[in-house]
Amino acid sequence: MTDQSILIVPERVWSDGESHRGWTILVKDDRIAAAGPRASIGEVRDAEIVELPNATLLPGLMDLHSHLFLHPYNETSWDDQVLKESEAYRTLRAARHAEASLMAGFTTLRDLGTEGAGYADVALKRAIDEGFIVGPRLSVAGRAIVAAACYGPARKNYRPDCCFPQGAEEASGIDEIVRAVRHQLSHGADWTKLYADYRIGPNGETRPTFSQAELQAAVEAAHDSGRPVASHAMTNEAMRRSILAGVDTIEHGYGGSRETFALMRERGVAFFPTLTASEAISEYFRGYVAGESDPTESMQQAAQGFRNALAEGVTIGCGSDVGVFAHGTNVRELTWMTKLGMTPDQALTAATATNAKVLGRQSELGTIRPGAMADLVAAGGDPTSDIARLSDVRFVMRAGQIYRKT
Ligand SMILES: [Zn+2]
Repeated sequence: MTDQSILIVPERVWSDGESHRGWTILVKDDRIAAAGPRASIGEVRDAEIVELPNATLLPGLMDLHSHLFLHPYNETSWDDQVLKESEAYRTLRAARHAEASLMAGFTTLRDLGTEGAGYADVALKRAIDEGFIVGPRLSVAGRAIVAAACYGPARKNYRPDCCFPQGAEEASGIDEIVRAVRHQLSHGADWTKLYADYRIGPNGETRPTFSQAELQAAVEAAHDSGRPVASHAMTNEAMRRSILAGVDTIEHGYGGSRETFALMRERGVAFFPTLTASEAISEYFRGYVAGESDPTESMQQAAQGFRNALAEGVTIGCGSDVGVFAHGTNVRELTWMTKLGMTPDQALTAATATNAKVLGRQSELGTIRPGAMADLVAAGGDPTSDIARLSDVRFVMRAGQIYRKT
């Protein structure tokens, strides 16, 4: 045994839908070396022993829809963040946001666009990987891609002769969108993020933006290079176009019909419901008060989309749109998923095994088994009977390194 071994002794272990009382986990370097009843692990010398009484050890949690370069809109509006905050300022903040996420037990994030902060996410990921700053392992989407003149800050709200930054890279037509995909991937984006609809209607209604042909060309270019595609789609039509174009994940899906979610299941497209985003926006701008108000129209739509997906047996991952609300409170999304029909076990599976599969890393992330990455988190009590216990984080380890203990 090397002196790098760590023996973790929690009250119970949860992984892949099963609870195991009395299991012990042995970690060596960045991997799980053994997991099982103490007697099965054999003699361990010179290991650091971490006792976690009255706690459940889980695979590190994952949130696959984050925006580390945004902060809550009730602090600063989205327009003001994009227009007035420098990329340097936003990057420094993002480092703090990354640390808060890790300390809350989220050891992996898929960050879906810097919203006007260029490729600073690629730099943030590098700084975390190199150990300069503390944060989760990241998959990043770079600038993300929107149809020309179909995103924010909306031009109609400003002087027409102003030239000002947009929240993502604009593209129009097949040549431009293919070029944008290739450029973003070459700059270090792990995913292509497309905005398939936005609030561009005459009265601010959400309407599809990219044509079927544009979406198809973008997906082909990304897939040719071996990278997956995430599509922001609120409306049923943008969802349908995105699914037919072959995207890998649909984000939001508030307006999705049963038929459209059935199509997602058939095509193997995963769904990220971002339920907390609609709650947070309702709190900031519609006077919604949790526990007092009736759900707003947007919250009801989000809930309906989620229920449709659940009824159709779609693969549902955990993706919250954190950044719209405070970093480090990602667990709100799991709470919403259980409020709207998932069991705590299903929500935990979404945030671990399912998310790992969406990233194509199911053999080493989102699971506690020998050979897997030692990304581990402990919560007080038993989150499989009360998901809210996930807020009581007692221990965080990423790649075998302890970041939080108590
Ligand atoms: Zn988002």
